[in-house]
Amino acid sequence: MMDLTTALQKFSEFEHKLYAYSYAMGVMSYDSETAAPEHSAEGRGEALGMLSEQVYQLTAGAETGELLDVLQTHQSELSVQQAAQLRVWKKDYDMNCKIPAQEYIEYAKLINKAGAVWRKAKNENDFSAFAPYIEQIVKTQKKFAGYFAPDKDPYDAWLDEYEPGMTRAQLDTFFANLRSRIVPMVQRIQRSENQIDISWLHQQWPLAGQQQLAKELMELMGLNNGRCALGETEHPFTTGFSRDDVRITTHYYLEDFTFSLFSVIHEGGHALYELNTAPRLQRTCLAGGASMGIHESQSRFYENLIGRSREFCGVIWPIICKCFPEQTKDVSEETFWRTINRVEPSLIRTEADELTYCLHIMVRYELEKKLFAGEIEVDQLPEAWNSMMKEYLGITVPDDTHGVLQDTHWAMGSFGYFPSYALGSAYSAQMIANMRSDIDVDSLVAQGNLEPITNWLTEKIHQFGKEQLPAQLLQNSCGSAFDSSYYTDYLEKKYTEIYKLTDTDKS
Ligand code: ZN
Repeated sequence: MMDLTTALQKFSEFEHKLYAYSYAMGVMSYDSETAAPEHSAEGRGEALGMLSEQVYQLTAGAETGELLDVLQTHQSELSVQQAAQLRVWKKDYDMNCKIPAQEYIEYAKLINKAGAVWRKAKNENDFSAFAPYIEQIVKTQKKFAGYFAPDKDPYDAWLDEYEPGMTRAQLDTFFANLRSRIVPMVQRIQRSENQIDISWLHQQWPLAGQQQLAKELMELMGLNNGRCALGETEHPFTTGFSRDDVRITTHYYLEDFTFSLFSVIHEGGHALYELNTAPRLQRTCLAGGASMGIHESQSRFYENLIGRSREFCGVIWPIICKCFPEQTKDVSEETFWRTINRVEPSLIRTEADELTYCLHIMVRYELEKKLFAGEIEVDQLPEAWNSMMKEYLGITVPDDTHGVLQDTHWAMGSFGYFPSYALGSAYSAQMIANMRSDIDVDSLVAQGNLEPITNWLTEKIHQFGKEQLPAQLLQNSCGSAFDSSYYTDYLEKKYTEIYKLTDTDKS
């Protein structure tokens, strides 16, 4: 058997090679979303296919299996970082090797087809066309979970892929808390007499002003450091190729500047996480975020806890006024603050406000859980969706296009992914509560000095990349295990103030 020194040397070469492949593939994908010409898809698809094949050979190959075995036998001699690298690759290897290759190829074809069928079904409001695909995807995913995590409940196995350590039991507690405290809150707001007028927003917001605003926001967040660049795409996202090359994107809507404003802050939060991973983790599998939920906690920390706070409005409003002098001349900072915090139950998750967003996730979680447990049939999904939208948000869904068919996630096979969006918000509320005992968050934000805040997050979370699991990172940053009451307390306090709710609104 190979000695440890040789194994570590080979392991480092293996990771370095994969770093190069993933950098190249990442840039190609990013380019396809931002700059590539219309007819480039086929040629790029072929090139990406060949590179993916190489990556598969490397990560699932027999040689890698042997290497991981050698490292495993020397487990006690590994450093904390090396042990974490082994954990990440072993999980990846098991996932790749335990699913029979032929079944995986069939599944990849199914997903490929499901995407196109879903898009057409959504456009034509035809759930029945997409239903057989959901059925087949769920069936396959349950089977796959049996291969790579035979001891786990299949839905827990998939949750663990996105949020290591997360289980249905924890999520049930989390969502029960949301249901009992946020649903009544939304109803009180709807009954309130203090509704927020946002009609001032309905005017044209020139592109040049929006671009200037995006630039100044990135400066405020410390992102203009030669390591992060901004692009434009249909749907904003963040992608990191290395800790010195992180890309964020936005979308400028001329009729609403707040979309790009909050996209830049949200994606900027993701970017800071990627940029602040410790240099020692560069070119290893540990660079980048620990989980979907932890990543989302960073974006939502900046977007909601900082970006929509009263203090931050004092910093950003003068900049907005400078970018759009005509449009803002009769508008106060107070009006802006209330506008960006308006609650309005709506049909579409991606357009939801901060308060109702988590209820959209709850609908999806309930349905996924029941589908995996066999407690609901696929053809019952639209009705179940509509009745939950009514119950939680008081909304009548007019058709499946604006209901059960709206998201692409199920067509991509991403069951178990949705909860991470809500977890991110809840984590961030718990983090800021603990941060307040170390630094004066509100006055720093009021001064537009975000650096100490980012430094705190870097020290507790960013620097560790994937080296630590979500539960450890929560312990570092919150000083305790996950507790969603911080989130519901925060939401209740915030919206009681914004909507000037009184006890009589409760009845
Ligand atoms: Zn995000």
